[in-house]
Formats: sequence, structure tokens, C-alpha cells
Amino acid sequence: MENLLRKKGLRVTPFRVSVLEVFSRFKNAIDTAQIENELDNFDRITLYRTLKTFIESGLIHEIVMPGDIKKLALCKEECHHHEHEHNHQHLHFRCNECDEVFCLELKEFPSVKFPKFKIDRLEIQGTGVCGNCR
Ligand SMILES: [Zn+2]
Ligand SMILES: [Zn+2]
Ligand SMILES: [Zn+2]
Repeated sequence: MENLLRKKGLRVTPFRVSVLEVFSRFKNAIDTAQIENELDNFDRITLYRTLKTFIESGLIHEIVMPGDIKKLALCKEECHHHEHEHNHQHLHFRCNECDEVFCLELKEFPSVKFPKFKIDRLEIQGTGVCGNCR
């Protein structure tokens, strides 16, 4: 965990380490309520600030899906400050049975270009039934 923080140029603090450990305990994307459940004795403002820092430095990414579903997931190593590489090769899939949100790697991702637009973020989302629930 410490290495992960250092790699992204972040100062190592016990709290940051424990928040990162929460993410490593789950296989799929998690929401803030799940993070809060796993931490004891924390300050909510510090937690939100920590998550924001993690997002900005490419440690985790935010997933927003229809139905006001917001989740967070660990990034791949290639993600950098303000540049989330997985947006170019990533599918977010929500299972209708267990409500888990999965980060799925894609072999191919459509390249979309519009001359007059600067696209910062392009995402593919899907819903259905996951492998565990089928
Ligand atoms: Zn990322
Ligand atoms: Zn499922
Ligand atoms: Zn993802």
C-alpha cells in the first residue's frame, strides 16, 4: 500500500494506507457507505478529501451509473494524474441481481473522434447478469 501511494507521488499517512486497504479487501467497485463501514474512528471530511486526492492522482476512479449509483474502484497502474488510462479500455458493468459493479477490460475500444470536440472522458457501461449470478 505504501508503495502504491509513493508511486503516485502521495505522502504516506496511516489513514491513507487504511483507506487503500479497504479497496483491496473488495473485488469489485465499492461505494462510500461500504468504505465507511470498514473504517473505525474516522473523520468524514478527511475521508472525502482522501478519496478526492486518490481520484486526482490516479489511484482510484469514480463510476457513475444510471439510478444515481456512484462507486469507486482501484485504478490500473498506468493511471496518472488527471489521466485515467482505463477510460480507453474499460467497461463498467452492473449486475441486476447482486448490484455489484465490475470493471471489465476490453480488448478493443471504439475510437471516437469529433474534430471540434475535445473528449476528456469516454465510457462504456452495461447492465445484465454477472457470472456469479447466472
Ligand atoms: Zn484511473
Ligand atoms: Zn451478480
Ligand atoms: Zn472501472
